[in-house]
Amino acid sequence: GPPGVGKTTAGKELAARLGRAFFDSDPMIENYAGRSIPHIFSQLGEAEFRRLESKVCAELAAWQDVVIALGGGALLNPNNRAAFERNGLVVCLRASADELLNRVGQIGNLPNNRPLLAGDNPAERLNALLHGRRALYDSFPVQLDTTNKPISQVVSEIESLLAPRTLPVHAPGLKHEIVLGYGLLETLPNLLDERGLTGPMVIVTDENVAPFIVHRSSLIVLPAGEQHKTLDTIRTLYDAFLEHGLDRSGIVIAIGGGVIGDMAGFAAATFMRGVRWVNAPTTLLAMVDASLGGKTGVDLPNGKNLVGAFHPPSLVVSDPLTLNTLPHAERVSGMAEVIKHGIIGDAGLFEAIEAGAVFGNVDQIARAIEVKIRVVEADPFEKGERATLNLGHTIGHGVEAASGYKFRHGEAVAIGLAAESQLAEGLGLAESGLAQRIARACTQVGLPVNCPGLNPVRIREAMSSDKKKAGGKLKFALPKKIGEVTWGVEADEALLLEVLKATTS
Ligand code: NAD
Repeated sequence: GPPGVGKTTAGKELAARLGRAFFDSDPMIENYAGRSIPHIFSQLGEAEFRRLESKVCAELAAWQDVVIALGGGALLNPNNRAAFERNGLVVCLRASADELLNRVGQIGNLPNNRPLLAGDNPAERLNALLHGRRALYDSFPVQLDTTNKPISQVVSEIESLLAPRTLPVHAPGLKHEIVLGYGLLETLPNLLDERGLTGPMVIVTDENVAPFIVHRSSLIVLPAGEQHKTLDTIRTLYDAFLEHGLDRSGIVIAIGGGVIGDMAGFAAATFMRGVRWVNAPTTLLAMVDASLGGKTGVDLPNGKNLVGAFHPPSLVVSDPLTLNTLPHAERVSGMAEVIKHGIIGDAGLFEAIEAGAVFGNVDQIARAIEVKIRVVEADPFEKGERATLNLGHTIGHGVEAASGYKFRHGEAVAIGLAAESQLAEGLGLAESGLAQRIARACTQVGLPVNCPGLNPVRIREAMSSDKKKAGGKLKFALPKKIGEVTWGVEADEALLLEVLKATTS
C-alpha cells in the first residue's frame, strides 16, 4: 500500500499476534546499501534503490511463515510481485489521501525518510503517487481500507481474512465440507488426517498445475484442457490408479481446474465401483462452481458432460492463493460464474461487482459458494430448483459448441447470461433494464457479451443437443431481477432467434 498506510506498524502487530517473525524491506535495503533510504535516493538515485529493493524482495519472498512489510512501490516490478504471490498472501492496505497525509505528518513536517513525498507540496506529490499507482493497488484481490481505523482493528481484520472457513453441505447423499482459506493446500495432509481421510492416495492434476504442487508422491499428471476430458483419459487414469496400488480403501485427490475435478471425480466414482475423493480446485470457476454439488463426468464427441455420475467428494479444499498463478483470462472466465451466482441468489455480491470489486478474494468466493450450496441443498439431484444454476448455460453451451470451443466456458456463459436476460425481458419476465445491467457487469470484469460472426442458427442447433432439454423442449432458467431466477421456461422460437441474431451481430 501507499506511504503512511501503516504497513510496518500493522505488520509488526500481526506478526506478534500470529507468533511469526516480522521483516521490513526498507531497513534491509539500507543495510545492503550501507546508507539511509533518503541517501540512497539522493546519492545513488531511484533506479539503484529499485535494484536493491528487488534483491531484497527475492530473498524475502522465499521465506516461510513470516510477516513482511514491503515498500509501497516494491510490487510495481512484476517479478517481485510474482515471487510474493507464488509463496504467500499479499494484503493491500489503502486509506484516503487526507488520512495518509495526516499519518505521514502534517504538511511541512514530513519525516525525512520518505523521499518520494519530499518537496514543497507533499500533498500534490502524494496525490500524483496515488494516481500513478492506482492500477497496481486496485489489482490486488485482497484490499483493506484502513481509513479511520485503529491499527488493532486493521490487524484483526487481516487475521479474520486469514482464518479458514468451513462451509458445510447438508443435503442427504451429498454431505461433505468445503474448507476455504489462504494457504490451505499446503496443509492438505493435516486436513485429511484431521477428518480420518486416510488410506492409499493418488493425486491427479494437469501439466499446468503440477509445477506448483508441494506434496508430490503418487502424482498423476494429465494433459491440460477440455479436449482431454474424455473417456480415453479416464482409461489412462484407471491404469495409473492400479499402478499406484489404489484399492477400495483408497482416496483420489484432484488438484486443478474443473476439467481435472470432473475427470478425477468420475474416475473415483467408477473405479472399483467407487472410491472416496477429495477435490482441491485451483481455478476461480472450479472454486465457485465445478467443485460444488457432486457432479462429475466427461465429454463425448457429441457434446459436453454427456457421461457422468453424482459422486460427492469427501472434502473440498479451496485455497485462493492458488489463483495467483492462474492466467488473467481464466480468472476473468471464473467471474462469469460469480456473477451468475449473484444473479441467482445474492444481490449484494452482484452489486459489489457492479461497484468495481476486485475479483478472486476469499469473501467473494465464499459468497458465491454459499449461493450454490443453498441451491444444491434445496435440490440435490436436479429435480427442480437446481435448474436455476443453468442460468446463462443454455445459450452459453450453444455458443461454446457453435464456436468450436473457441470461447472459454465462463466467456460463453457471460454471452449466455447477457442473451438470456434479453430473452427474459422479451418474455416480460424480467424487470426492464435488467439485461443491460447484467451485460454491463460482465463487460466491467472483462467478459464478452456477444459473439459477432457466429451463426445464430448454428447456435440454436447446438442448443438442441444440450442435455438439459426436457421432453424434447428447451427449458431456460431466466432472471426476474438480481437475486431471483425462475426455471423451466419455454421460450418463443422467434424471440429466441431474434436474441441470438442480436448477440451475433
Ligand atoms: P480447466 O480445468 O481447463 O482450467 C483452465 C486452465 O487453467 C487450464 O489450462 C489449467 O491447466 C489451468 N490452471 C488451473 N489451475 C491453475 C493455476 N492455479 N495456475 C495456473 N494454471 C492453472 O477449466 P475450468 O475453467 O477450471 O473448468 C471448466 C470445466 O469445469 C469444464 O469442463 C466444465 O464442464 C466443468 N464444470 C463442471 C461443473 C460440475 O458441476 N461438475 C460445473 C461447472 C463447470
